[in-house]
Amino acid sequence: MKNTVYIGVGSNLDSPSLQIDRVMEYLRLSSILDIASISSKYFTSPMGPQDQPDYVNIVFKANTDLEPLELLDFLQNVENEMGRDRDAIRWGARIIDLDILLFNDFEIDCDRLTVPHKGLTERCFVLSPLAQIDPDLVLPGGDRIGFIAQKYAHEIKKIQD
Ligand code: ATP
Ligand code: MG
Ligand code: MG
Repeated sequence: MKNTVYIGVGSNLDSPSLQIDRVMEYLRLSSILDIASISSKYFTSPMGPQDQPDYVNIVFKANTDLEPLELLDFLQNVENEMGRDRDAIRWGARIIDLDILLFNDFEIDCDRLTVPHKGLTERCFVLSPLAQIDPDLVLPGGDRIGFIAQKYAHEIKKIQD
């Protein structure tokens, strides 16, 4: 499988920790992605509307033969299969969110896809798990993940394997 990707996963509805386990099992069985490493679970406060439950987030690294937009289609299908409500308000509560954080060292900016993910360098729930699984990873802009992540580590509420 020729492409290396990092995916951010989040949930804050219907037993979020179980939803994360559920989606990882689904992805494992699908064999579209060859999962290489998975972070611990990180418990964080919501971004955007504050009247919603806390989130559980992980990041995983995988290899795949899918091209970027094929991967986006695949992940959106998985979100739909898991019951994601596409009409919900922006950054509102959701059962599952699957975001492409990095795709090789590609920089992509089209209607449906921005890579690296636009929130990557300022979200603790992405940076901390990324730094856990690959601290020496360098972003296309030249920054080392382990270094940027330090700034946000205090925003994490709890970490669980
Ligand atoms: P955010 O993208 O700020 O984390 P979100 O995950 O809640 O917000 P979604 O509702 O899941 O946003 O997706 C909105 C749109 O974002 C999708 O339809 C998709 O086309 C687009 N998108 C752009 N870049 C990416 C990316 N790197 N990964 C996933 N979706 C992306
Ligand atoms: Mg998101
Ligand atoms: Mg998303």
